[in-house]
Amino acid sequence: MSGFEARTSAAGSDALRDKYLDGLLAAGLYEDSCRSRYEAVNYRHLSPYKPSAYLVQKLREYEDRHRRCAPHTNAYKKMLPLLTGGVAAGTVEECKYLLWTPFSGLGNKIISLTSSFLYALLTERVLLIDRGRDFSKLFCEPFPGTSWLIPEDFPMKNLYFNRGDPLSYGSLVREKGIVNPLPSFVYAHVVTDFAQEDARFFFEEDQRALRGVPWLLVRSEVHYAAGLFLNADFEPELSRLFPETETVFHHLSRYLLHPSNKAWGMITRYYHTYLAKGKERLGIQIRIFNHENSPFENVSTQVVNCLMKEKLLPEIDLNDPQVVPSRWKIMDVIVTTLHSGYLDKIRSIYWEHPAAGGVLVSVHQPSHEEYQLMDDESHDMKAWAEMNLLSFSDVLVTSAWSTFGYVGQGLGGLKPWILLRPKSPALQEPSCVRDISMEPCFHLPPAYLCEQKMDGKRGKVAPYVTYCVDVEGGLKVLARNNEVQ
Ligand code: GDP
Repeated sequence: MSGFEARTSAAGSDALRDKYLDGLLAAGLYEDSCRSRYEAVNYRHLSPYKPSAYLVQKLREYEDRHRRCAPHTNAYKKMLPLLTGGVAAGTVEECKYLLWTPFSGLGNKIISLTSSFLYALLTERVLLIDRGRDFSKLFCEPFPGTSWLIPEDFPMKNLYFNRGDPLSYGSLVREKGIVNPLPSFVYAHVVTDFAQEDARFFFEEDQRALRGVPWLLVRSEVHYAAGLFLNADFEPELSRLFPETETVFHHLSRYLLHPSNKAWGMITRYYHTYLAKGKERLGIQIRIFNHENSPFENVSTQVVNCLMKEKLLPEIDLNDPQVVPSRWKIMDVIVTTLHSGYLDKIRSIYWEHPAAGGVLVSVHQPSHEEYQLMDDESHDMKAWAEMNLLSFSDVLVTSAWSTFGYVGQGLGGLKPWILLRPKSPALQEPSCVRDISMEPCFHLPPAYLCEQKMDGKRGKVAPYVTYCVDVEGGLKVLARNNEVQ
């Protein structure tokens, strides 16, 4: 029986595998133009987390709003003049927009996009995205009967704003204090080089002022959802949307991010060729940030130490070197990394010695691109495919600080073991630790936010927000019953 069949039959029947993800996905759309939308559920392990009825209701309302306010609708045309000047009228506008523009690596883009969608849900905005050089080729349109792409004829051609721009919220606050009304176009710089005033984006008073802005542009490379939970005005609504607080990225990524047919072809071809043999699947993601502190011998030893110490791979059997066990089971392992060498290191363990318990360990690595490229379609397509393949794992090992790993863990609903980042060229000890929640970490939140919104290790209004284990000073949302003491 293949892993795929095992998964569907493990659930009892296909009917139990709800392709609409308990209402998260609207029914009956994009069956052929977006195969992944309803098929992905058959490849991932069954999520124990169900979206709340309130989240489902809010998503359907969002979809209606998006259709009503989409590019080229009458409502959109009415709002366009406000993009280039004037002061927002005091009255509540029919449609308000959140423009999102891609920034940094693919994992960074995905987590910031998901946080931005959460923010759009909270503030009743319509999310429109800058398609970038290749971004729109990786994903299906997520919202039924409409488009999330900023249209080609959008009047504002340059959406690249930066810290300190006169129209950035931080500059406006610096110049004039919190002003209301604000201009009808404002840029929110939610990038980790925040100035103190940019960080005011997370504060109640400032969000009340931003509410009236019809065109808000966000640029970010982080999962800033944890910062939204620290806002006392947002927290009750967020708790209602996500009673299981650690499921924000899990649900929203499964709602929003469907691989395009081209990406899905790569994912499923690879899966059926290399990963569908066993009943157990382990994903290992190795990301090197600092090569000086991460020589190959050390990192490969660190990875093996983690896998063995945590019993994620079977032990080797030194007493029974038979050629093939008489009865065996297969364990599929997928390794994703930019580099060569790690695959052979893990493979050779079980070539040179048999695994205990009659396990045959089948190890594969889809690509080794060697260098990170930016906005390159074929390179990004592989990265996106690999994030999805990682999400098909039953057990996952990721690398500290890596947003690439966060996407795999979130889509898969997995709490990974994290390979810790070496701080010196010495062998890293401990090799890995178990994460405290499957939510991505908000890297480098502004100090100002931590000073004002945290009480020791806990969020003031959201005690289930705490510091990450993989990134010092990073913030993350835990399960509610896991509140930090
Ligand atoms: P992060 O830098 O680890 O947080 O992850 P990002 O995804 O934001 O940026 C790293 C980029 O490097 C990815 O988007 C890919 O382009 C590339 N990359 C890093 N690790 C891998 C890997 O395991 N497989 C592939 N195919 N690309 C990778």
